[in-house]
Amino acid sequence: MPDLTSASAPVFRIRVAVPVYLYDCFDYMLSEQDYQKAQPGARVLVSFGRQNLTGIVTEKIAPDAPLSSEFKLKYITELLDDEPLLDTQTLNLLTWSAQYYQFPIGEVMHTALPALLRQGKPYNLLARMWKLLDEHADARLKRSERQQEAYKILKLHPSGTAENILNLAGVETATLKALEKKGICECVLEAQNFSPQAVSLAQMPLTANEDQKKAVQGILKAQKKYQAFLLDGLTGSGKTEVYLQVMQEVLKQGKQVLVLVPEIGLTPQTISRFQSRFHCDIAMLHSGLNDSRRLQAWQAAQTGKASIILGTRSAIFTPLPRLGLIVLDEEHDLSFKQQEGFRYHARDVALYRAHLQNCPVILGSATPSIDSYALVDQGKMTVLELNQRAGSAQMPKIHILDLKIAQKEHGISKILLAEMKKRLDKKEQVLVFLNRRGYAPVLICESCAWQARCPHCDANFTVHYQPYSHLHCHHCGTIHRLPDHCPACQHTELKSIGMGTAKVEESLNSLFPDHEVIRVDRDSTSRVGSWQKIYDKIHKSEPVILLGTQMLAKGHHFPYVTLVAVLDIDAGLLSVDFRAPERTAQLIVQVSGRAGRGEHKGDVYLQTLRPDHPLLLTLVNENYRAFAQQTLTERKNALLPPYRYTALIRCESSSQQQNQDFLQEHAGLLRQRSDLNADIWGPIPAPMERKAGRWQAHMVLLSQDRARLHYHMRSWWQNMLHQKPSTMKLTLDIDPQELS
Ligand code: ADP
Ligand code: ZN
Ligand code: ZN
Repeated sequence: MPDLTSASAPVFRIRVAVPVYLYDCFDYMLSEQDYQKAQPGARVLVSFGRQNLTGIVTEKIAPDAPLSSEFKLKYITELLDDEPLLDTQTLNLLTWSAQYYQFPIGEVMHTALPALLRQGKPYNLLARMWKLLDEHADARLKRSERQQEAYKILKLHPSGTAENILNLAGVETATLKALEKKGICECVLEAQNFSPQAVSLAQMPLTANEDQKKAVQGILKAQKKYQAFLLDGLTGSGKTEVYLQVMQEVLKQGKQVLVLVPEIGLTPQTISRFQSRFHCDIAMLHSGLNDSRRLQAWQAAQTGKASIILGTRSAIFTPLPRLGLIVLDEEHDLSFKQQEGFRYHARDVALYRAHLQNCPVILGSATPSIDSYALVDQGKMTVLELNQRAGSAQMPKIHILDLKIAQKEHGISKILLAEMKKRLDKKEQVLVFLNRRGYAPVLICESCAWQARCPHCDANFTVHYQPYSHLHCHHCGTIHRLPDHCPACQHTELKSIGMGTAKVEESLNSLFPDHEVIRVDRDSTSRVGSWQKIYDKIHKSEPVILLGTQMLAKGHHFPYVTLVAVLDIDAGLLSVDFRAPERTAQLIVQVSGRAGRGEHKGDVYLQTLRPDHPLLLTLVNENYRAFAQQTLTERKNALLPPYRYTALIRCESSSQQQNQDFLQEHAGLLRQRSDLNADIWGPIPAPMERKAGRWQAHMVLLSQDRARLHYHMRSWWQNMLHQKPSTMKLTLDIDPQELS
């Protein structure tokens, strides 16, 4: 033990980001030998309280730096890595993100690591290779099919096979270990090859049209320096082709490209387009991977072996030694914003990362966010427009159906039904969109108007009949039996009102008995089978009816769909959230964009009780850009985001009074700061005041001066966390996307 009291003896210390909900990093001592090896970005095992946690070294403290005598420093338990896992730039990005979103640094650092590394598992730059020792073991394996299978594969590769490849081929590590025990094979460690492959074209690029050419050239001019581009292109205008042609140049220079998409599982075609264009290593990072595959993909990215990294939101934090371009497709999509815990927005982090890296970043969408248009307006982003559909496809025409006067069958306008029939008779496909799953959103008593409500939330139960009859709360997950009589008046006639996808499926089956109805929502995808299966069906050109929720609206290419029906958009038109019009317009345009992508022109029908709503009129008579410009002006005049920066404080406890009092008191403290220059809205009850049995309240801070707002909030927020009762939950959402 070094003598801590003597000022002259050097003390070897490092600063560590520990994954706990605390805002500081913590200092630990270590041996001189470990100190020499330790580097920022490496993992260390440390004891914290009673736990053993995996932290990240953020700093080496000079041995002669004065020691604060306040705490007795502990020794680290173990230095886990000789090489840093996170490079300097990734560390900078994470530190910036933790500060910007005011979230504990240790937790933020953990976001950047695959689960196995978070758990402290060794990070091997060595591969486990399995080699056969006994080539005449057939007879000994009669009893185990798995072992026979593994043995056969090993026999095919006398020089040995990497464990991860065997795993991919379906051979489990346990099986290999069983064979090893019998002396049939052995495991040896070999250095892996992480050098990147040369990238070559696997497929010729398409001949770009004028708009595409301009976009590609515009972006390529900005290579090797930071510039943000908004690729604003109609649905089906060939944005992906623009990405691919820009990527080709960047890859040619030996750089890596990071491509972020909303949900990989739902867009297999986008992935296959990247895969089929280039011969190179592509690492995919998304939530569908198991831990070891995720680690493999992360390693390919982190070592620089993979040239293209395709991932969802959190892939923005992957260390990439040769990053040269970031692409964010469907940039308006809400899934880029993490809605719990560390609430970052991958789009904003991407802009900052490109800035750190000095490389271009492309945000692409047919319905860009108002936030991005505002950046264009302020000269911080360059807009590139694609104004025609690629190939021969034309934009669909939007028709509005007034539900107040329409004759209906099963809640669907007869005019719409006749149009659907016409299309199906011509062997074309129809897409019916309804953003509400389940059978019906309301169950009501016909005699006394009792409604089935969740006992824990301010919300109705949704009626479900699949896979069995039940009531389900979509907010807290509570499930109740479906009552056969009214609990209030004992009446036996209970009626379900409104429609969910399951009810529409039933209606469509009876209205169109000769056509298959394929329902795609969160309840059905598990029933029907994988998305891939549904997808194959859709691409077989049979006259089917596709019915689904949001899942169907996103980025898909359905060449045989010529008619899109949106059954109910009124919820979006009537919502009080100031962002609701933006989301509704995006949804309408995105779902409309699924029509007429092939040779035939498409039509879109919208059912509504508000046919004169200005948003609809602008979309029908003009287009999304006109809508966006209007919205931008409105937000500017009302000083709403993005023209003011916001922070939302959510407060949850068992008493609304307690929430209100607590927030009120702290709002008062903030108001006392004379140079704050911000508005404070609230505290007010949240739009859904009670959720899962707990009371919710909100408070919103708004300011035109972001730096000052964040500066003032920092100490105020941490103080608030410090003082809150232990049963209260407080969260902070910087630049919130939803006020619920
Ligand atoms: P977006 O992403 O803008 O919705 P896509 O990139 O999916 O559009 O392109 C729509 C279709 O047009 C795709 O089938 C694509 O292969 C095709 N396409 C794109 N660019 C061209 C081009 N220059 N010439 C011919 N076809 C193209
Ligand atoms: Zn009743
Ligand atoms: Zn509930």
